[in-house]
Amino acid sequence: MTRWLVTSALPYANGPIHFGHVAGAYLPADVWARFLRMRHGRDRVLYVCGTDEHGVAITLGAEREGVGYREYVDHWHGEIKALFDRFGISFDVWSGTARCPYHVEASQRFFEVLHDGGYVFERTEEQWYSEEAGRFLPDRYLQGTCPECGHEKARGDECPSCGSWIDARKLGNPVSLVDGSRPVLKETTHWYLDLPKLKPALAAWYGSQDRADHLPWKPNVDGYVQSMLDDLRERPITRDLPWGVPVPVDGAEGKVLYVWFDAPIGYLSATMEWAAAAPDGEHRDWRDWWLQPADGEPPRLAHFIGKDNIAFHVVVFPSMLLGQGDAWQDAEGVGRPLVMPWAVPANEFYNLQGRKFSTSGGWYLDNEDFFSKYSADAARFHLVMSGPETADSEFTWEGFQGTNNTLLADKLGNFASRVLKFAAKRYGGRVPDGAGAAPFDGEAAAALADADQQFAAVGEHLEGHAFRQAGQALIAGCAALNQFFDGCAPWKLAKSEDAADQTRCAAVVERCIAYLELLSRRMAPFCPDAAARLRAMLGAEVATASAAEHWGTDGPPAGAPADAALGEAGVLFAKIDDDTIAAEIARLQDSAQA
Ligand SMILES: [Zn+2]
Repeated sequence: MTRWLVTSALPYANGPIHFGHVAGAYLPADVWARFLRMRHGRDRVLYVCGTDEHGVAITLGAEREGVGYREYVDHWHGEIKALFDRFGISFDVWSGTARCPYHVEASQRFFEVLHDGGYVFERTEEQWYSEEAGRFLPDRYLQGTCPECGHEKARGDECPSCGSWIDARKLGNPVSLVDGSRPVLKETTHWYLDLPKLKPALAAWYGSQDRADHLPWKPNVDGYVQSMLDDLRERPITRDLPWGVPVPVDGAEGKVLYVWFDAPIGYLSATMEWAAAAPDGEHRDWRDWWLQPADGEPPRLAHFIGKDNIAFHVVVFPSMLLGQGDAWQDAEGVGRPLVMPWAVPANEFYNLQGRKFSTSGGWYLDNEDFFSKYSADAARFHLVMSGPETADSEFTWEGFQGTNNTLLADKLGNFASRVLKFAAKRYGGRVPDGAGAAPFDGEAAAALADADQQFAAVGEHLEGHAFRQAGQALIAGCAALNQFFDGCAPWKLAKSEDAADQTRCAAVVERCIAYLELLSRRMAPFCPDAAARLRAMLGAEVATASAAEHWGTDGPPAGAPADAALGEAGVLFAKIDDDTIAAEIARLQDSAQA
């Protein structure tokens, strides 16, 4: 009884997210989760996400805007979710590290177990301190002279002029960005995660990932992790900040866990929140998802992330999980190891029309405007088909138009529309009875066999996270069905006075309707709304309610029930004309110039 635990990187609650984020870490996870629910059952899949609400980027952003930290993260938590809702991202739980009622305790527990196990040590060092504000200043709160090039407005962690990484203590004439005061160096204590000590366990786990039931590491993940393992260093896991999870040891008053330490624990604490919110009569236990069972297969934990997050999901978080040993107990009170990542499908970056997305630079897509004109399904399918699976890729308006018009409207929507309109006209909107027709042979049989093969491939590619290939197979299946319909030419058969031709015409239309029902399920992970609309067009009797939730078996679909009433044919994907696309491109360029 396999379980799938699907996560998408927790977005920082300090700004808007854009299509590039969606294409990288959210849409592929959503397509996969929708597919798994259909293939293996809703109760076998848990899709977890929420906002990352701690860290310097957030305290700095809130202080600059003069709003409270809580108010600040609440705002972005809502904004970010609004875009996910537009895209139909189907999280089972959507939480946030500052709002989840289990997060502080879970994060402190992680720290304590690592501390007690000897994987955390303390170190005292000098750090800039604002006497005016009475607090230590994280690197990004500082500005001063670059020790490398002399640039006067270098940040505490990085110089924008020469690009050097800076040791903040070497910054010349530092100024606090919070209050403009001149900070002083003062001793402070921080706690470090001893990654070198965890390395043997980490390397053993990482190297064991070639098991047969495992997806291999993606090349971008493997290259990065191998070089990181060669030079694994201790990392500080605490900070002097007024906002975050308090460090649970004596002498750590005023210190919080570093955001990268507590953020991935957000996946686990959000699962606890989901379990606690179980409706009456539904069994939910977070331990079923996060503890390795005494026997049987552990849950398959898949982290969907961007490539900038590989270190934390394949090195740091797994080290933290390994360092927990068997400190966490199952329902019988027996300590069990935590579940380790099963797959980390890290995507490359997704750009916009030749440049990086930049909200401040005007190079972005206005979400409100976009979704007032175009369908979420078309956006979803285009982002899958142009997604950054193996290399950086980009959204172009011309590409979006091509996907919508040539693939979705011409291949998929057109097939549905031709078949249903023909059935309405010729058979009064009912499924004709093709019983007694000779079996299809020659090109007609070959076209159906091709459709069977392509629709089976959709599932195989989705199993292996090959989303673009899965989308290609879906469209190839539609192309095969169009070929079948064209080759059989039912409109000619319908005019024949030969009874055998009439029966064959009915058989052709019956097959097309049965395949449309199959298509509605194969397209559902990509285009859930259009899939539901297609099922409505097929009518209740053809599209029985239970079947929609099931992926079903591959191969020729069962017969559509003779004489069942079809619904009304409609347009699944409206075409987008050239003028509309030209106007969008002009608008983008104007917005960037402004
Ligand atoms: Zn510099």
